[in-house]
Amino acid sequence: MQTLAMLVAITGYILTRWEFLYQDLTRLASIDTLTGILNRRTFIEHGAQELIRSKRYDHSLAFLMIDVDHFKAVNDTRGHHGGDCALKTLAFRGKDVLRKTDLFGRLGGEEFAVILPEASQELAIVAAERLRSEIENMEVQINQDTFQITVSIGMTMLTAQDATIERVMQRADAALYKAKESGRNRVVFE
Ligand code: GH3
Ligand code: MG
Ligand code: MG
Repeated sequence: MQTLAMLVAITGYILTRWEFLYQDLTRLASIDTLTGILNRRTFIEHGAQELIRSKRYDHSLAFLMIDVDHFKAVNDTRGHHGGDCALKTLAFRGKDVLRKTDLFGRLGGEEFAVILPEASQELAIVAAERLRSEIENMEVQINQDTFQITVSIGMTMLTAQDATIERVMQRADAALYKAKESGRNRVVFE
């Protein structure tokens, strides 16, 4: 009887540990290791869910595509570690500026994206401009030195014709391209 009780206790312990381990693994697989925000895969997965929800309830949804300006030059002058510090600071500041319900992810390299669920076009433009300005004014600290970066942002709203989140991303990307072409450090809405 005692042996049986011990077996039950041990099995329970193992199952609990396994559950924690599984939760840790799932969390680790969904975050970007450098910045701690959502990685590309998870951002797109969650974004697709938000798109379905927004369409079902006829809610608005805004998408921001963000790319650091002249980031290659940052790496060239501050080193790869300096570049990494800039990406981490950007993510940290971005999380602060955005709402808890917003989705914030690193799509790769120096490219980030935000989904603002239930945001009107006016509100999204204000949020994008605030994010751009916060990043322009933030200081990236590396050793005793500090430096600054800017970002270009392409912004778009979900339309009835958008069947997939990839379609929305393409439009935000086109807007981002225009932001770059027209001088960088700005938000372009398309
Ligand atoms: P633009 O204003 O047109 O966006 O110019 P850019 O220099 O930012 O763009 P480009 O695509 O030429 O360069 C991006 C650079 O980002 C090149 C690549 O080495 C660097 N990069 C990509 N991923 C990382 C990373 O994780 N850490 C660091 N430090 N650099 C990275
Ligand atoms: Mg860039
Ligand atoms: Mg880029």
